[in-house]
Amino acid sequence: IYILGLETSCDETAAAIIKNGRDIIANVVSSQIESHKRFGGVVPEIASRHHVEQITLVLEETLHQADMTFSDLDAIAVTKGPGLVGSLLVGVNAAKALAFAHQLPLIGVHHIAGHIYANRLMKEFAFPLLSLVVSGGHTELVLMEEHGSFQVIGETRDDAAGEAYDKVARTLNLPYPGGPHIDRLAAQGQPVIDLPRAWLEEGSYDFSFSGLKSAVINTLHNAEQRKQAIKAEDVAASFQQSVIDVLTAKTVKAAKEYRVKQVLLAGGVAANKGLRAALEEQFAELADIELIIPPLSLCTDNAAMIAAAGTVLYEQGKFEDLAMNGYPGLDIEQ
Ligand code: ATP
Ligand code: MG
Ligand code: FE
Repeated sequence: IYILGLETSCDETAAAIIKNGRDIIANVVSSQIESHKRFGGVVPEIASRHHVEQITLVLEETLHQADMTFSDLDAIAVTKGPGLVGSLLVGVNAAKALAFAHQLPLIGVHHIAGHIYANRLMKEFAFPLLSLVVSGGHTELVLMEEHGSFQVIGETRDDAAGEAYDKVARTLNLPYPGGPHIDRLAAQGQPVIDLPRAWLEEGSYDFSFSGLKSAVINTLHNAEQRKQAIKAEDVAASFQQSVIDVLTAKTVKAAKEYRVKQVLLAGGVAANKGLRAALEEQFAELADIELIIPPLSLCTDNAAMIAAAGTVLYEQGKFEDLAMNGYPGLDIEQ
């Protein structure tokens, strides 16, 4: 089964062709980061216009790399939500037009299901499994008992992990997106600044990062007022340590409680070196749980993950009609 995937939910225009849900035939990503940098974040209007300009080029390049035509494809899968509505609609409309023109089945994919299925491009799933989703807009622990079924057992009550990284980076005057810059600085500093860890109520798998973000801002502000020198590397290391401590501890606890066979890492923050190392260390001691971490290129937004998740929907016969819309607040559990 060959599925073409399209992804335009945020600021990456992406297309990919996946064979049998597991093998990457072609994978093309056009990032708009440079265009949004000077605004310090993604500007929705600019993002939509970029997608309109890029989508056909990205698609052509994907077919070229795969050395395939539409007659070789079995279906077209596209991110239908969540995301920026103007961005989503570019991909959704392109997918609908292509499905109509080439008489191919149309599949609508949840963006976060895509992030999770990026892991299936590395290793076949073994259920039950637990996925730690850490991205620009989401921080969730998702339990899967079978393909296509997602149960959110914990989620952030305020900022997403990636959002916290980007906001803290901004207070340190680092460019957008700040995650990779904090990650790099953290490796050069020491976690010597005492910052809070939001454990929340006993037994809760929810997260909260806004208090940590405020604590970082207060620390910087106080140091400035007292004219005390404070190293950005140490701020980054302390912030990152707090984020990682909570993420890894809750993931390990949930993995044991739900007796999962695999733990997957998903989303843009999965590219974080400190987080990857901490999870690897923790799960090295738990021999009966397999940890899967995708390569960096499959952690951030791409269409290979969308085609991979779409393949499961194809096999389950879950298709969309040509009235499919974009859904900015789409729920993964439905
Ligand atoms: P969502 O997937 O929730 O809709 P999104 O698609 O915008 O949001 P992703 O593209 O999955 O988010 O991830 C982008 C986020 O990942 C940004 O917040 C970015 O700072 C963060 N990020 C990328 N690399 C790293 C890193 N090495 N360390 C920490 N954060 C990182
Ligand atoms: Mg992005
Ligand atoms: Fe994403």
